[in-house]
Amino acid sequence: TAAASEAPPAKAEPTRPKAPVENTSQNEVDLGAFDLDQKKPLNVVLLGHVDAGKSTISGHILVLTGNVDERTMEKYEKEAKALGRESWKFAFALDTSEQERAKGKTEECGQASFTTETRRFTILDAPGHKNYVPHMIGGASQADIGILVISARKGEFETGFERGGQTREHAMLAKTSGVRQMVVVVNKLDDTSVLNPDGSWSEERFLECKTKLEPYLKQVGWNSKGLVWIPVSGITGQNLKDKVPSSTCSWYDGEPLLDVLENLRPPERLLSGPVKMPISEKHKEMGTMVMGKLESGVIKVNDRLVMMPNRVEVLIDSLQLEGSTAQAAEPGDVVRLRLKGIEEEDVRVGFVLCSSTDLVSYTHSFIARLMVLEHKSIICAGYSAVIHIHSAVEEFTVSKLLAELDKKGKAKQKNPKFVKPGMRCLVQLKMSQPICVEPYDVFPQLGRFMIRDEGKTVAVGTVARLISDSDRPD
Ligand code: GDP
Repeated sequence: TAAASEAPPAKAEPTRPKAPVENTSQNEVDLGAFDLDQKKPLNVVLLGHVDAGKSTISGHILVLTGNVDERTMEKYEKEAKALGRESWKFAFALDTSEQERAKGKTEECGQASFTTETRRFTILDAPGHKNYVPHMIGGASQADIGILVISARKGEFETGFERGGQTREHAMLAKTSGVRQMVVVVNKLDDTSVLNPDGSWSEERFLECKTKLEPYLKQVGWNSKGLVWIPVSGITGQNLKDKVPSSTCSWYDGEPLLDVLENLRPPERLLSGPVKMPISEKHKEMGTMVMGKLESGVIKVNDRLVMMPNRVEVLIDSLQLEGSTAQAAEPGDVVRLRLKGIEEEDVRVGFVLCSSTDLVSYTHSFIARLMVLEHKSIICAGYSAVIHIHSAVEEFTVSKLLAELDKKGKAKQKNPKFVKPGMRCLVQLKMSQPICVEPYDVFPQLGRFMIRDEGKTVAVGTVARLISDSDRPD
């Protein structure tokens, strides 16, 4: 087999050039392209145990930011009341805006969006799928920010946090999926089970949740200095948009949730890099429709790009952002594209759309650094499971255990017979089909992965070197 691909590193572009200006000789200027520059896009994924209040919070945010109109809201309120659960109106608001955007199509990772003064937020991962971890991975791998929702209600915090509860696993997966920043929202502080006798929010309960969770978050890589903790009530909406009144919560002196989100440092966008867009969904709708997060580069209508690894040249026929037609998409955007030149059957989730001048690498086999988290027994050569890398999900086999590594990544023992939970190692993996990946050092978004087996995440890792198949034109 050929040597590993020596892909030129994608250059990070710290400053943000002006919005792409088209040659508009025959058309008038499309304002869509300029809108992109006014509101900076940020993708948010809501994480946390079932019933923590994720849909209620997302729905209430849509209402508070004026993204659901009053009349529609009154309708949901009636429907929710008829079901005897008025609070569900917020979850309805989320469901509907999602359906509108999906135009009746079921989406694996639904989205709703809202805008604040300077930002355009997309909420990834939607009700119905949110507790299904592989989909959560899909959502998290596209997200810039994670909001970890914790229920402070008596008994619920404890359940969500125990073994088997989703709080821990979501926090870990978010870290390994590349979520850059985490905001922890302690919800349901209005619940009678935890209210102070005078009806105000209990600082004691808030601190209890925080103190118990913090060490665990630290263990999976969330440095406590980088975390923001916010007490809220998804149902009453307190501390979502407006700061909770001090009569309700005298002890919180931080900002409400939306202000915190608005003020987070925006992620670096690789505007001038080559186009790289892993496909997370596809369907037929008057042609081939694909959806995914644009990881680098700018895509414009009428651009010619290449679908990898099958190397088919495609034309961007139309482009949508959050359900509205647009002229251009930039890194960080979750984009829906209609493609010409390729049949829907010839696209698979996990394929990557890229610039024809800078094709993404692909391979049957690569060397990876692994950290083994848990597995009922040990991992040795011949072990097979499923790898989740960007939007791709593929079966693989461990073809060689090359070395056990110490904490710093140095080889401790060559060719070990097996590795156990807690160990780090260098392995060679063989995929059942060629898969688009890049070494982690070259392009981290396409170079980090997790391994799942029987419904559990058993290892996380990064791509070190590609072994074969990578045929770049240069
Ligand atoms: P999800 O599964 O995380 O999306 O949780 P939901 O948003 O569906 O909420 C689960 C339940 O908790 C619903 O019955 C909500 O009405 C309730 N709930 C959500 N937020 C709050 C809150 O702030 N306070 C109280 N008391 N209940 C809440």
